[in-house]
Amino acid sequence: MVGVKKSDSEWREQLSADEYRICREKGTEPAFTGKYWDTKADGIYRCRCCGEALFGSDTKYDSGSGWPSFYEPTAEDRVAEHRDSSHGMVRTEVTCKRCGSHLGHVFPDGPQPTGLRYCINSASLALDEKS
Ligand code: FE
Repeated sequence: MVGVKKSDSEWREQLSADEYRICREKGTEPAFTGKYWDTKADGIYRCRCCGEALFGSDTKYDSGSGWPSFYEPTAEDRVAEHRDSSHGMVRTEVTCKRCGSHLGHVFPDGPQPTGLRYCINSASLALDEKS
């Protein structure tokens, strides 16, 4: 797979200030404020940075967290996991494997069939709505 590499200034040009802070600097949007936390539309959620298809709306569910939540990615090899011990917690960060964009975290308290909760920032996603 071909990776996507851009310079910081190229990312800054492509993204809003909030998107840059979240996607490229591992920020987090406040709960219940993002564009997609309550979205129920059908489609594919793509990486805001590189366009990779990351999550399908059919795996999105209401976790009550205030962030878009999915129980699995479109394919396992599209997201990378990293140990994150920031903020006095040990969590598993997830990033876009293609461009390295920060997406959010994955937790082991999701619904079946995976039991996983991918808790993702709206700012890291772009919904490609099914027409
Ligand atoms: Fe990406």
